[in-house]
Amino acid sequence: MSEASIQEMVDEVIGYVDDFCAEHISEERVKNWCVSRGVSTAEYAAFYESELGRYCMPPALGGFDGPFLVRAMLVARLMRHAGAMLPYHSDMNSMALLSTLSDQSQREIIEDFTASDGRISFSQAFSEGGLGADSSSIITEVTSDLDGVFLDGEKTFVANGQFASRTLVLAQDMVHGIEDGGQSLWLVPLSEAGVYTYPLNTVGQEMLAPARLVFDHVKLDPMWRIQTEGRLGAMLERQYMLGRIYVCAASLGLAQAAMDDALERCARYRTRGRYLSSISQIQVKLANMAVEIRSMENLVTKAALSVSSDDSLSEQKYNCALMKHYVPGAATQLASEALQIFGGMGYTDESRVSRIWRDCRGNQIAQGADEMMSRSIARHRVKEYAFTKKNL
Ligand SMILES: Cc1cc2nc3c(=O)[nH]c(=O)nc-3n(C[C@H](O)[C@H](O)[C@H](O)COP(=O)(O)OP(=O)(O)OC[C@H]3O[C@@H](n4cnc5c(N)ncnc54)[C@H](O)[C@@H]3O)c2cc1C
Repeated sequence: MSEASIQEMVDEVIGYVDDFCAEHISEERVKNWCVSRGVSTAEYAAFYESELGRYCMPPALGGFDGPFLVRAMLVARLMRHAGAMLPYHSDMNSMALLSTLSDQSQREIIEDFTASDGRISFSQAFSEGGLGADSSSIITEVTSDLDGVFLDGEKTFVANGQFASRTLVLAQDMVHGIEDGGQSLWLVPLSEAGVYTYPLNTVGQEMLAPARLVFDHVKLDPMWRIQTEGRLGAMLERQYMLGRIYVCAASLGLAQAAMDDALERCARYRTRGRYLSSISQIQVKLANMAVEIRSMENLVTKAALSVSSDDSLSEQKYNCALMKHYVPGAATQLASEALQIFGGMGYTDESRVSRIWRDCRGNQIAQGADEMMSRSIARHRVKEYAFTKKNL
């Protein structure tokens, strides 16, 4: 696909986001959603019924079937308008996982959701205390005996963990997971006996409404098992790549929002008779921020194009790791500079930059802490270097 046609699709989706946000997003609403830890059901319905709903659905079910960059730019633009982490991005992340499943599983899950609450949403219960995004060492376990199949364990930080009606649990499973290295995936209804949820109070990203989930000998219905057909490892690998692109696209959007606010402030606000934009130290800040935004855009674009291209898996992973290593941290730093430009008011909830700064910070940890990316970047570089040297 040519660069021009991809750009056309990006421009189209940006137009849809702008239309949606003009009608549905305002600072007053965003503040309310932060207090209530989520958007209302009516707002969710409006999102899915708008043109944007198509970009959430997996391609096998009639959803958008173009380059992943288009979805990433949708997320960035939404966050830019809101100046906050809206929960739609977490639904899109769940949908990305769905699109790696077999067509049959996708159909069953979607039909089930649309029939029950009309909203296509489930949370992802992967992380466990002390294991981070290292899914190979999880402890949550599926066992079976004469009475049935049971789930026991605890997941630490599940976005939307209390409010989505189901959660997708990754567990150790020596019975059903033989083909998948001893792991399996289950879509567990929160209403089942033995499932307990405990809200976590975060310092930002309130709309993500994370929770700790405990599974105390939950009896599993075999129908809840996701058919992975020996591809679970590859599915998770792809899911982490797509999740990282979404988180970095969101960080990019938040950074752009902080920049928008800083520019507005610099153009209108005077201190001791001078416009902020005329002060050289502020000008340097703005210039550095502009460079940072350009770098973030380039890294997100490169990674998002890579995952829908025929790049090797190692190249795709490298592009995603480079992006995740850099973008969330740079966005937090940029939001902090924007806050500084606002002076004391920047450190209050009178300005959105304080919220943007807090929301950016969480993305340095979500989808695998930024530090964890250095290992795969270094390995890739050393391997490439050794290969190139051999062929010189
Ligand atoms: C906003 C947000 C949303 C999230 N959403 C979800 C969700 O929906 N579902 C879900 O399952 N989880 C979710 N998480 C959890 C997230 O995936 C984990 O918090 C993340 O992977 C880090 O794992 P951890 O908290 O166990 O930290 P740890 O892995 O314990 O790491 C602690 C610190 O040590 C560093 N560290 C650890 N090992 C090494 C090493 N070998 N080398 C160098 N440094 C190291 C890490 O970088 C980090 O700074 C979310 C987290 C956040 C913040």
